[in-house]
Amino acid sequence: MSQMGPDATFREGLERGEIRLQKCRSCGQSVFFPRVACPNCHGIDLDWQQVSGKGEVYTTTTVRRKPERGGDYNVCMVELAEGARMMSRVTGFAPDLVAIGMAVTLFVGDIDDTAAVLCKPAEV
Ligand SMILES: [Zn+2]
Repeated sequence: MSQMGPDATFREGLERGEIRLQKCRSCGQSVFFPRVACPNCHGIDLDWQQVSGKGEVYTTTTVRRKPERGGDYNVCMVELAEGARMMSRVTGFAPDLVAIGMAVTLFVGDIDDTAAVLCKPAEV
């Protein structure tokens, strides 16, 4: 084994509180999910960078859950300022009120004791 695979590298970053994206050195495209080759130009010269944390809700869903199990929660796809999209969850905000196009700030939190990409409404 020489290097960690791209998924493991991403997870390892999350566990340290960092959200990282790959960026292709050949064509400049931001790449997510983590992978070995650029989906745009098939180049393999991918570089890791930490994200700005700025994004916008791209799709949003409310997952219904009984109050005694924690209540309803949001699941969304966030488009990052860098151009890639990630699955996330808007926290600290009524799930039904999360709207497409809403500005959010991404951060690393826990879902069921596992580091995960979460977001909250961006400060205005
Ligand atoms: Zn590329």
